[in-house]
Amino acid sequence: MKISFYGGAGMVTGSNFLLESETKKFIVDCGLFQGLGENTTQANSKLFAYDPSMVDVVLVTHAHMDHIGRIPKLVKDGFVGVIYSTKETRELAELMLNDSVGLMDKDAKLHNLVPIYDESHVRATLGLWKGVEYHQSVDIGDGVSALFKDAGHVLGSSMIELTHKDKKMVFSGDLGSSPSILLRDTEALDKPDYLVIESTYGASNHEPKEKRLEDLRVIINDTFMRKGALIIPAFSLERTQEILYDLNELVESSEVKQIPVFLDSPLAIKITEIYKHGTKHFNDTVKSRISKGDNILEFPKLKLTLWSGESHKIADTPNPKIIIAGGGMSTGGRILFHEQIYLPDPNNTLLIVGYQAVGSLGRAIEEGAKELTIHGEEVPVRAKISKIKSYSGHKDMDEILSFVEPSAEHLKKTFLVHGEMKQALFLAQRLKDYLGVSATVPKIGDSFEIDF
Ligand SMILES: [Zn+2]
Repeated sequence: MKISFYGGAGMVTGSNFLLESETKKFIVDCGLFQGLGENTTQANSKLFAYDPSMVDVVLVTHAHMDHIGRIPKLVKDGFVGVIYSTKETRELAELMLNDSVGLMDKDAKLHNLVPIYDESHVRATLGLWKGVEYHQSVDIGDGVSALFKDAGHVLGSSMIELTHKDKKMVFSGDLGSSPSILLRDTEALDKPDYLVIESTYGASNHEPKEKRLEDLRVIINDTFMRKGALIIPAFSLERTQEILYDLNELVESSEVKQIPVFLDSPLAIKITEIYKHGTKHFNDTVKSRISKGDNILEFPKLKLTLWSGESHKIADTPNPKIIIAGGGMSTGGRILFHEQIYLPDPNNTLLIVGYQAVGSLGRAIEEGAKELTIHGEEVPVRAKISKIKSYSGHKDMDEILSFVEPSAEHLKKTFLVHGEMKQALFLAQRLKDYLGVSATVPKIGDSFEIDF
């Protein structure tokens, strides 16, 4: 077979891999390019390097937009095959894709382009999309079967294990950092011959995850003492639910005072509902809390503000208070309104809990900008800017090495993807030096013949 890399190669976003047998074409993930500055929209609008109408099956690892965001475009451009993912990924993808339609529209107008897809393409996409259970083997044609294994990254996330005759190939998708706050940890690899693995943090290690709760407690109590507002730009999928879970623990153990907490993101509110029904995929610690009667994502004074009218009224609630709003990198969404209101006051705190891409407003805040332009208005930044680094959704360098190690001798070839070049190349060297694994960092457009 032949494998080609058309996105997520030499960069974190845009995941898109094509696997071709003699008679079939399989795609793994078809995500949006993000954070490429002015080139982002162009990159997403470009024609695919292959003919979508000739693709038989699309396999989806998880519901983040950099893994699913171009699937409706694939459908718009002629794909009529079958899309497979776990059931939870399908459910979450429906929310994510519908939510993105408005953004696509806005972005296209800004660049004088046609939106890369619209509602009708999202509807058509969902019509082709089948949700399966973890570990339910799916025959995808030409003697290849696919198995979705737990990746521990976001609800529904999976590694995809393909089997063809006596050979195995695994696409890791994004791999969760252990221990996962809510989910089960990543499953072990079962000695694949070929591995396509993420390398987002291929050259660095995280702070211990346990530290995050103590950091959050200190920041909330500090906000309380200063009678300020704590603003948290949060990603709607997984990070928001992790923060709600931590707030639940801090509030219910009286480690912090009960103050109003607003979850101000329609997408995050809807995703949180899906999490409430997905508890069978949570880890044992979380499950045992639930079985003792704890509503882990609900606590006193938490208010969900679905409608924009409710969102505008948050300003009327006196401080201290906490506002969690999308989006995570302050590139759009309701967070901008709150930043406009609260950043000028030194008693307030903005808390960064996720990666801020180069060029995003969040990155400017992280790097200490003293003035920002939001909605055309000059906004001075006098609020305290805090950061908790230990919320991470990805395995770090050491975690990836221990994940690969038991399969090292069996691996014929490993491809490192979903990472900036520097991170991926560093990890490739480590894999070679420490584990003797043959690791390659493909570039966009690269193809390799493999014995699979
Ligand atoms: Zn992801």
